Amino acid sequence: MIDKIVIANRGEIALRILRACRELGIRTVAVHSEADRTLKHVRLADESVCIGPAASAESYLNVPALISAAEVTDAQAIHPGYGFLSENADFAEQVERSGFIFIGPKPETIRLMGDKISAIEAMKAAGVPTVPGSDGPLDDNNERTLELARQIGYPVIIKAAGGGGGRGMRVVHSEAALLNAVALTREEARAAFGNDTLYMEKFLANPRHVEFQILADEHGNAIHLGERDCSMQRRHQKVVEEAPAPGIPDELRRKIGNACAQACREIGYRGAGTFEFLYEDGEFFFIEMNTRVQVEHPVTEMVTGVDIVKQQILIAAGEQLPYTQADIKLRGHAIECRINAENPENFMPSPGKITQLHVAGGPGIRFDSHIYNGYTVPPYYDSMIGKLIAWGEDRDSAIARMRTALSEMVIEGIQTNIPLQADIMRDAGFEAGGANIHYLEKKLGL
Ligand code: ADP
Repeated sequence: MIDKIVIANRGEIALRILRACRELGIRTVAVHSEADRTLKHVRLADESVCIGPAASAESYLNVPALISAAEVTDAQAIHPGYGFLSENADFAEQVERSGFIFIGPKPETIRLMGDKISAIEAMKAAGVPTVPGSDGPLDDNNERTLELARQIGYPVIIKAAGGGGGRGMRVVHSEAALLNAVALTREEARAAFGNDTLYMEKFLANPRHVEFQILADEHGNAIHLGERDCSMQRRHQKVVEEAPAPGIPDELRRKIGNACAQACREIGYRGAGTFEFLYEDGEFFFIEMNTRVQVEHPVTEMVTGVDIVKQQILIAAGEQLPYTQADIKLRGHAIECRINAENPENFMPSPGKITQLHVAGGPGIRFDSHIYNGYTVPPYYDSMIGKLIAWGEDRDSAIARMRTALSEMVIEGIQTNIPLQADIMRDAGFEAGGANIHYLEKKLGL
């Protein structure tokens, strides 16, 4: 069994992991940068270790410092959270080689799913529907590339196999622009990811982003927890997420969810994971897998009653999943608004001291956040300072609760995007449900 965990992250997810550990009776080690001594989970953890200066490269991405923190505190396991080193196969490998448990999939699984071409191949083999495309890397035969695009049909999108964070992709609308676009993307991919392998997909015009949450243990059990709609995005960053996705027929949810669970069994997946799809005209198309817990996991927790972070830890400890697929019932509807320290109009980060804080409450409201009265939001990291989550018996009541909750939130001293979120919750297109990934940017006039 695991009795002490190093939390290799910061902010709200570090606190979320600490809470799960406490419920399980597991002791915690907070690791933090010099700029993060005052983080809430650092104060609550059983032990804390400073791992370096403010810059992430020297602290939260500092592998030797993280591993020695586990060594000096005699911990058994490391939870990577999301972002930072959470999808770094080399890190997972070093953690295991040093004799610790990495709370996540096996390093080779992270590597397989981190290469988008091998991920797509693995998913196809398991019967998960993918975007029509090159089915493998583009070679340097220009004639073949041109022919491939003709077969797929324009517009197409050129993507880097090692890409991430919305970078390393380019949309091409006509044959005249294709070869130049391939050359440019190859150059960018080489510079940004050290891997110039490219592939091609049909570019879908107006898809929604719908993703399936799965849990899998080491004993061959895998289940899905339904899906989330994360189509409200700005610059490929999710702004609002909800579960279930509006308008997905039960039968289709079952079919795609079961295919995801089957894929997990076939690749020997372990832990929590997310299959991301584009959804257009009633069809799902797999685009990539995230091999970690996601920011938006709470909406799934609210509609299923499953504690995803606790399950990650129990799976890492070698336990069997306590649920079968038949145990998972979706109840009601949940919405999450990401709360960022930023100017709600121009989106510039707004770090600084929180001088007044009143958090919303009431039935169905959850606020996952590390902020407190007097806390200073540092300028060095992501601007997300919390997640406001509302649950209701149906989508309309979840929206009504979210509106009330947003109107109750008081965060003074810094600017936040709460006015933008309030505006989205009153938007007719959002209220109707099922808006596509371009909707928010169009609304914002971007
Ligand atoms: P990343 O790993 O960089 O996030 P993804 O493969 O998840 O890359 O793609 C990011 C976003 O790019 C998607 O959420 C979607 O908005 C857009 N996109 C990717 N592939 C396609 C496609 N075939 N058609 C339309 N949009 C796409």
